[in-house]
Amino acid sequence: MIFNKKTIEDINIKGKKILVRCDFNVPLSEGKITDENRLLGALPTINYLIEKGGKVILCSHLGKPKGEAKPELSLKPVADRLSELLNKDVKFLKDDNVISESVKKEIEQLKDSEIALLENTRFRKEETKNDEIFSKELASVCDIFVNDAFGTAHRAHCSTVGVTNFVKDSVCGYLIQKELKFLGDAVEQPVRPFTAILGGAKVSDKINVINNLLEKVDNLIIGGGMAYTFLKANGYEVGNSLVEEDKLDYAKDMMKKAEEKNVKFLIPVDHVIANEFSKDAKAIITEEKNIEKGYMGLDIGPKTVELYKKAILESKTIVWNGPMGVFEFKNFENGTKTIAKALAENKEATTIIGGGDSAAAVNMFQLGEKMTHISTGGGASLEFLEGIALPGIVALNDK
Ligand code: AMP
Repeated sequence: MIFNKKTIEDINIKGKKILVRCDFNVPLSEGKITDENRLLGALPTINYLIEKGGKVILCSHLGKPKGEAKPELSLKPVADRLSELLNKDVKFLKDDNVISESVKKEIEQLKDSEIALLENTRFRKEETKNDEIFSKELASVCDIFVNDAFGTAHRAHCSTVGVTNFVKDSVCGYLIQKELKFLGDAVEQPVRPFTAILGGAKVSDKINVINNLLEKVDNLIIGGGMAYTFLKANGYEVGNSLVEEDKLDYAKDMMKKAEEKNVKFLIPVDHVIANEFSKDAKAIITEEKNIEKGYMGLDIGPKTVELYKKAILESKTIVWNGPMGVFEFKNFENGTKTIAKALAENKEATTIIGGGDSAAAVNMFQLGEKMTHISTGGGASLEFLEGIALPGIVALNDK
């Protein structure tokens, strides 16, 4: 993939105030961070900037405070944990307005290689509107802007896009480079066979991904709730399974396109069904593709698992986005778990997990270490797979 954006290695860092947009949108439970992958992902860039003598000002959003200062969504726990991870004090610039005169004063007092963290950028209602005033305020505290928030690169907000209009040098960090390298190489120059596995609840979320990937892959594997729309479009009974009636024609079109492009389009041939959507529901395995009235498909069946496993083990590049079933319920986790294991088993393939629920599933089954790359951005990686240029990256300076 041709990557022509300036990076942190292309600029002079020493003594400069550097605003770094990170993705610190981490899950919190009672003030404790329950998954710190995104913090770990940000460390290489931060360490590089400290080493080179920059004055590092970090910023991020956390959750959806909708323009209000919500104490439970403060970034204070992130500052505390980052201080431990970096073994260096991360000064938390607590201010409900994010930027203020006193915050600016504290930034002016930063010495080379010191680090500060601004409060949650979404405490400001302007943030998600990509408004000019807040963008200028952010730009006013720095000489250089670094975007390293891959997870938010698909959003045009003040702290990802607006700010770049008012800073001379806007460049990308190591995490964005790494994400684009893995996702970009997989999609643009895959070692074949190239297989994409798509699952999750809805077809409508993945319409453009399916359409775009059909131009590139050798196999397209469909699982999860979205599979039943394809089965119904093929004339099978799906009982009470999730179906998007208004996407039946689209499903037919995609299967036709796959045939024209010589792409193997795999949909389930059997299922694990239940009579209710519940963690305690009794799991029943069907013999075939049809699902009888009163039942719903909650996971792919054992024959399907074998079929999908075979395609996975024969592949050299695999991109996975979306679980194969309701993996959160023990009785319906098998499809997702076995597919994750098959990816882990295929040592010759480049395996890329597209963030979100599939990343959660792979980590839940403790197979994260076995994958080539787990993306830190579910939405951003999906938009990348759709072939959309990510605004947070487009906005950065070209080399
Ligand atoms: P998504 O956010 O679209 O990736 O969807 C992920 C969600 O889809 C997970 O919470 C799964 O439990 C759910 N899911 C997967 N398979 C099914 C299914 N057969 N029926 C209903 N929900 C499903």
